[in-house]
Amino acid sequence: MAIVSAKEMLVKASQEKYAVGAFNITSVVQMGAIIEGAVAKNAPVIIQTSVTPARFLKPEVVVAVFKALANEVSIPVCLHLDHCTDVDFCKICADLGYTNIMFDGSHLDFEENIRRTREVSDYCHAIGGITVEGELGTVSGVEDQIKVASDDAQLCDPEKSFEFVERSGIDLFGPAIGTAHGIYQTENPVIDFKRLGEIYQMLNTPLVKTPLVVHGGTGLSEPTVRNLIQNGGSKYNVSTNLKYILMDSTHEYMTGHPKEYDPGKLDKHVKMETRKRIEYWIDLLGSEGKAL
Ligand SMILES: [Zn+2]
Repeated sequence: MAIVSAKEMLVKASQEKYAVGAFNITSVVQMGAIIEGAVAKNAPVIIQTSVTPARFLKPEVVVAVFKALANEVSIPVCLHLDHCTDVDFCKICADLGYTNIMFDGSHLDFEENIRRTREVSDYCHAIGGITVEGELGTVSGVEDQIKVASDDAQLCDPEKSFEFVERSGIDLFGPAIGTAHGIYQTENPVIDFKRLGEIYQMLNTPLVKTPLVVHGGTGLSEPTVRNLIQNGGSKYNVSTNLKYILMDSTHEYMTGHPKEYDPGKLDKHVKMETRKRIEYWIDLLGSEGKAL
């Protein structure tokens, strides 16, 4: 059994200064590709669904496929619900077998964000084996149905972060530090590494208690990615990049084989392209060979 909570794998990553790839999926083919790529690299890995694909596929189906695939391998794997703004849906997914739940209350005022995040933390911790991620400040761009204009995105205050983490009971923290969901509108996005480092120090010295999450991981330069990890990011979210791989590899295959009505071959091509990309990310994040 390789299924673990996200916190379990991220404390180690945080201590050893690498990051675990957290990859968003919308299809079962992608889920298989992620696990195969992680096995090939002997790396821990997190599979994520945002709320719309989780509802579309049905969370029961996502959990069943995840468990079937995870039980065949020995690397640590985790199933994460990403950016959920609905406390009840968080609870449903926790009951069904998701091992990490993100309640996203970043659009709420500070007290209400704490109150609802705490409700999710208490619920998941009572079940056991499930950890919870919270977010403070806002990450610009579009993730699932949540749209934040870059002018409205607010960076996270380190003092408030400490209070938020203590009072909400979360296990993982996603501070807004200038990364964005979707595709970056500029070649050199302004990312506040210093702020990330300060928040890391406040929460995780002398011991790692609350690993930090980097949202909006697509489209950053390789030095930027390494810098984020050096400053304390240990869960690295990649969503948009995998959507592009899925769509582009499908289009490429269909264009090259217009008369071939064999969906199995298309799936195989998409799976191979996705797997190659997962292996690229694992190399960049430094998690190769880090499976326990
Ligand atoms: Zn995100």
